[in-house]
Amino acid sequence: MERISHWIGGKLVPGESGRTGPVFNPATGVQTHEVDFASVEEVDRAVAVAQEAFAEWRATSLSKRSDIMFRARDAIDRNRRELGTIVSEQHGKVLSDAMGEVARGLECVEFACGVPTLMKGGFSEQASTGVDVYSIRQPLGVVAGMTPFNFPAMVPMWMFANAIATGNCFILKPSEKDPGASLLIAELLQEAGVPDGVFTVLQGDKVVVDRLLEHPDVKALSFVGSTPIARYVYDQGTKHGRRVQALAGAKNHMVVLPDADIDMAADAAVSAAYGSAGERCMAVSVLVPVGDVAEPLIAAIRERIPKVKIGHGMDPGSEMGPLVTREHRDKVASYMESAAAQGATVVVDGREHPLYTQDGFFFGVSMIDHVTTEMDCYKDEIFGPVLAVVRADSYEQAVGLVNDNPWGNGTAIFTRDGGAARQFTFECQAGMVGINVPIPVPVGYYSFGGWKSSLFGDSHMYGPEGIHFWTKGKVVTERWPDPGTSKVDLGFPRTR
Ligand code: NAD
Repeated sequence: MERISHWIGGKLVPGESGRTGPVFNPATGVQTHEVDFASVEEVDRAVAVAQEAFAEWRATSLSKRSDIMFRARDAIDRNRRELGTIVSEQHGKVLSDAMGEVARGLECVEFACGVPTLMKGGFSEQASTGVDVYSIRQPLGVVAGMTPFNFPAMVPMWMFANAIATGNCFILKPSEKDPGASLLIAELLQEAGVPDGVFTVLQGDKVVVDRLLEHPDVKALSFVGSTPIARYVYDQGTKHGRRVQALAGAKNHMVVLPDADIDMAADAAVSAAYGSAGERCMAVSVLVPVGDVAEPLIAAIRERIPKVKIGHGMDPGSEMGPLVTREHRDKVASYMESAAAQGATVVVDGREHPLYTQDGFFFGVSMIDHVTTEMDCYKDEIFGPVLAVVRADSYEQAVGLVNDNPWGNGTAIFTRDGGAARQFTFECQAGMVGINVPIPVPVGYYSFGGWKSSLFGDSHMYGPEGIHFWTKGKVVTERWPDPGTSKVDLGFPRTR
């Protein structure tokens, strides 16, 4: 069985803890790899290596760091297919989708290439007589990122691009379910000129996360994953005095007003609910048709569902692959039973797809109608290809659903009415809003983050907020000797 190990000090380091976990190809159900789980001692050793690399890296000039980021962008781009293949074979998503996630992640690397501009501070000449003031931003030191299974290439790029470019040494703890991409990324960063110790990969589970959270030399932690773990990471990290951002789960509502273009809305709903088998934190999981649009919209979606081609992620004909593990697939399937038992109408049941009974972790696209807010299929983040339809009588009721939901990652409205869309943008309680765009993931030069239980911490991910998160500010007040104005003054320094 092929091993997936750690990357420490610029080389592969086999695990020594004796603890490992299985990695499967979800399309076949066969275990393909064994991944090492680091121990507390291994984490400590990796942090020490990163800490040693920090002094030189933070002193490396901005132009050199920018140059390395350009090279990293190029190296990752050239290896987009190879990276996508690893992602597809361990996560299950189709290759085009996996390569798409690499492309979206690269936006963050492109952004980080501009680090000389992004690190620029302000300068106030003559803030006081003979006194100038300027601000600078400096890196934090050793920092860490812990990532979920659903974007094994993109989410690490959300984090490390800005973290490294700003002069930190970054430790990645990938998901143990699909850890392979992290090692190719490490090799490519090395090829691009990232010095040894500046980028580290520690494979593992809770043991690694817990040690990173409490290690005194780890100054900031970025986390993306499910809400219960995100809350835990935020609480533990801040308890230890660390800077933490923890992006969490979601239940994204797509509101469709009666004046919307039905075909456009149906295409968008199918793409956003079933793309990547619904394993996206920005997937549309709740459709909210308002008034009369419900029947024609649901009919249009039903018409499209049988045409979604489900199969092996590496088969060019496939549009949707399997779910990540058998346990997760079975959990997703269980919502078909509970929804029916709680009074919803299961319009399309993913268990009826012929691949459901095969060896891979497949589940067909599903739609549940007449869902209410008390049902489990509404209350839980299912994270599978399941679209729940909650019908609303009015716009007010629809926006109320979005705002009353405990999550607030993304939301979308489909309408031709600019005034209604503007009102929705004004009042909806979510961090990312789409207007006739179902998955409004911000481009790399904006920042990504939800509201409510979709994010713990103050700062959003990547873009300008990412630069802020990975650096700390310093303000310098300076006066240069001017024999003409020098005198003894014991009073409190005041602006003059
Ligand atoms: P997860 O919470 O199970 O795992 C995320 C990370 O936490 C992994 O690295 C995992 O090893 C680690 N982890 C798991 N259990 C832990 C524990 N008890 N203590 C400490 N660490 C632990 O999430 P997942 O299933 O890998 O990913 C799917 C979830 O991520 C979904 O809820 C999805 O909405 C969310 N997600 C959110 C965003 C966002 O930006 N808001 C983006 C992608 C995914």
